[in-house]
Amino acid sequence: MNKIAVLTSGGDAPGMNAAVRAVVRYGISRGLKVFGIERGYEGLLEGKLSEYDARRVSDTVHRGGTILKTARSARFATAEGVKDAYEVLTAFGIEGLVVIGGDGSFRGMQDLQHYFVSRGETFACAGIPGTIDNDLGYTDFSLGFDTAVNTVLSALSNIRDTMTSHDRVCIVEVMGRKCGDIALYSALGGGAETILVPEVPLDIEAVVTRIRRNKIKGKNSDIIVLAEGVTDAETLKTLLKDRLGNEQSLRTIKLGYIQRGGAPSSFDRLFASRCAVRAVDILLNNGVGSVIGIKNNEIINLPIDEGLAIKKSFNKELYDIASAISG
Ligand code: ATP
Repeated sequence: MNKIAVLTSGGDAPGMNAAVRAVVRYGISRGLKVFGIERGYEGLLEGKLSEYDARRVSDTVHRGGTILKTARSARFATAEGVKDAYEVLTAFGIEGLVVIGGDGSFRGMQDLQHYFVSRGETFACAGIPGTIDNDLGYTDFSLGFDTAVNTVLSALSNIRDTMTSHDRVCIVEVMGRKCGDIALYSALGGGAETILVPEVPLDIEAVVTRIRRNKIKGKNSDIIVLAEGVTDAETLKTLLKDRLGNEQSLRTIKLGYIQRGGAPSSFDRLFASRCAVRAVDILLNNGVGSVIGIKNNEIINLPIDEGLAIKKSFNKELYDIASAISG
């Protein structure tokens, strides 16, 4: 193997740069030429590949976002798009690809590899999980999740000051798509009174009861951490207002994109570097389509099909702990 390439795809996540940097530098140290592809699969289709040397990734390990930029490409997700991507990769002589992204990006990588195989050719590829949502079942964590939780924790501390001063209940809506992990981890770490996640059916009466019960106990300001996969903050506010009337002052905050940006945490930087080294090693061994992750602090890799078939499980233990000690 002589030439490999790396791209970032889907939503950006803190730690993507640390992963790109490590792929480039470790790849070079193993005698490879490493190409960066700009704007994910869309950039691949446009031939936006260029060789990266070690200096080109200097001063990036601590930066959020992705220096390679990212995109969502409808064109790539078609049979024609995959064929065109194959043409570009072969024209550049790329023999292996590292994809940093979420499950959609991995499915794209899988399609690409199947296309090579259908032509009787091999193509090594490896996926590094890069998404703040932590919604991939085969890995304990994905890159950017830890940083996003820390960002939410910091916001909760600030929000708490104001809500306590004004005796208000605040609904804080956080990201995660259909996965409640950002809400769960940040609510537990931030001492929120209520956690609402898509994995547990919404019981609005229980939320109302908790607010009233806390008020009787002399606590006039609650924080409700709401995962976006349940509903949006304004809808929840309406549901509560219908029941509480003027009994309690309610506010909503949607944290939005501030959760996606920012300097990666130490965990995400180390995790990124470890995944990148595993990815390059897989390519060097002509690994046929693997996804990389972390289980019990060990870096693991699985065949793409196997990894993507594993359903995300909900951390009931953390949820029970949070429920038991909140209030
Ligand atoms: P995030 O979790 O941040 O959304 P993601 O990788 O899941 O990341 P997607 O937008 O789902 O983000 O996918 C990124 C790109 O991967 C898409 O724009 C598309 O080009 C490609 N892709 C997604 N799903 C598929 C699929 N089923 N088959 C082929 N390619 C796909």
